[in-house]
Amino acid sequence: MLTIDGSRGEGGGQILRSALALSLVTETPFRIINIRRRRSKPGLMRQHLAAVHAAMDVGAAEVKGDQLGSRELVFRPTTIRSGNYRFSIGSTGSCTLVLQTVLPALCLAPGPSDIELEGGTHNPFAPPFDFLAYAFLPLLERMGPGISAKLMQPGFYPAGGGKIRVHIEPTPRLVPVDLHRRGKILDYRACAMIANLPRHIAERELRTVAQSLGWDPQHLCIEEVAHAQGPGNVLSLKIISEYVTEVFTGFGERRVTAEQVAQRACKQARAYMSAQVPIGPHLADQLLLPMALAGGGSFRTMSPSSHSKTNIEVIQSFLPVDVRIAQIENKQWEIWITKNEEGYL
Ligand code: AMP
Repeated sequence: MLTIDGSRGEGGGQILRSALALSLVTETPFRIINIRRRRSKPGLMRQHLAAVHAAMDVGAAEVKGDQLGSRELVFRPTTIRSGNYRFSIGSTGSCTLVLQTVLPALCLAPGPSDIELEGGTHNPFAPPFDFLAYAFLPLLERMGPGISAKLMQPGFYPAGGGKIRVHIEPTPRLVPVDLHRRGKILDYRACAMIANLPRHIAERELRTVAQSLGWDPQHLCIEEVAHAQGPGNVLSLKIISEYVTEVFTGFGERRVTAEQVAQRACKQARAYMSAQVPIGPHLADQLLLPMALAGGGSFRTMSPSSHSKTNIEVIQSFLPVDVRIAQIENKQWEIWITKNEEGYL
């Protein structure tokens, strides 16, 4: 049986989630050891367990080791089942990470699916809903499936209480895409979301964006979230270009000023704009898996992150693909995925 070492490279939850996603689509059973070995609290936390159980449902899988804190797991999928699913992640977990675990399989399933996910929708260290809806899903759709995602209720770390609904129209096979040009920047938007917090936090964040990026007031908005379970603040910077949309996020935290939260997001947006690439670092690590399933694809991005490098290793454990990374210019890299010689997909 294929063994994946969860302590390799980044050593985080992505190794587990990517392995689950790839196992479902390729119907390859696997064992993972040293789960999240490089994180401060290693092993399966609630949100990882939620991802395991979501994958288990979708793939009618037999699972061993699915307990909180477990550092080893065996996963044997049988068949992918499309349909209606409801996954409750619990307060601190991220809905989007659980969704990404089962999304590739459901994009290639025999019929459409409707998924409801409850938990965090804007968690630090996870793709926030806006990134999912405006950056990641539209690129995945270019590979064939139809996907719509609705934010029913935002949920912030640590209280959670958010809800997302996703509808998936599958495709018989994913098609390769090449994303090399960003094109002109057509529009940009900064949205400061606040829940159960004073409005001045959002105002100060937007003032910082205006000063730091020179964005005019008509591109700035405040969204006060009603019915949130706890306090929450997220600043989302959306950059809409001719060929791609990117989203960069600052997460409000205790003891971090609104100005610092905004500066963190602005720094990412500025780095992206000055690199003049279509794909930022988070999109890069998340596009690799669907591209490999498509049997090919390529994109221009910034310096490959440790998440990207680790994800490539996991992908190559399941799929016969070659991945070529080349630095093109000072701030630009290209990543090419191709079937390798023994490859059949
Ligand atoms: P891990 O740290 O192994 O659990 O993986 C976290 C995943 O969340 C990676 O795919 C990251 O690219 C993604 N991620 C973390 N922060 C963001 C963010 N601000 N925007 C988009 N994706 C994110």
